Amino acid sequence: MKGTVLIIEDEKEIADLISLYLKKEGIDTLHGETGEQGISLLDGNPVDLVILDINLPGIDGFEVLQKIRQAGESLPVIIVSARQEDVDMIMGFGIGADDYVSKPFSPKVLSARVRAHLRRRQDIDSAGSDIFRFGPYTLDRENLWLKKGPERIDLPPKELSLLLVLSEHPDRAFKQEELYKKVWENSFGDLTTVSVHIQRLRKKLEENPASPEYIKTAYGSGYYITGSAEGEPS
Ligand code: CA
Repeated sequence: MKGTVLIIEDEKEIADLISLYLKKEGIDTLHGETGEQGISLLDGNPVDLVILDINLPGIDGFEVLQKIRQAGESLPVIIVSARQEDVDMIMGFGIGADDYVSKPFSPKVLSARVRAHLRRRQDIDSAGSDIFRFGPYTLDRENLWLKKGPERIDLPPKELSLLLVLSEHPDRAFKQEELYKKVWENSFGDLTTVSVHIQRLRKKLEENPASPEYIKTAYGSGYYITGSAEGEPS
């Protein structure tokens, strides 16, 4: 089974054990020992699922989960906790966890849960297609064209690349640095290049570029696109 699981767990033995079981299934793992470390690993790594301990040094698992959800990540998160109160809170407040496993747990059981979530996610992904829609626009991510209704819109390569990157994760904010790295394939450069290209896209695609409907600005942290892949609910 393919996939990358981020384990946020301060007890190294537990993280190693989980990792061992997942790797046996062909699943890659990343390990963050604190919530902060975990969150920074989420940035720039292709994570498919998070296993999250609640009782962590520094910010706790609840806060980590909140941050993941605030960033708009729709990742499955499996909470791991030894405390019944935590489980009650997870269940009672609907804080956005997808599953929980209480400690001590059987690594086999946890690994089976992980696989079930990954499988579900992969089913959803393959149900989606290379067609991404936003407003009157259709973006074909395989054949690399953009149309408004039946009419094709020619975009310069960088503007098209920006759209392609944004559409990989609709509603998820991409920082300027991240967009720069992905589109210009370079870590050093003038980040205003990104905003300049975003403005150009908005001028071409938005009815009112000053108040964009599709290519939006995330509060101080970057840009995101609204829309959905074909086959997914919009
Ligand atoms: Ca812990």
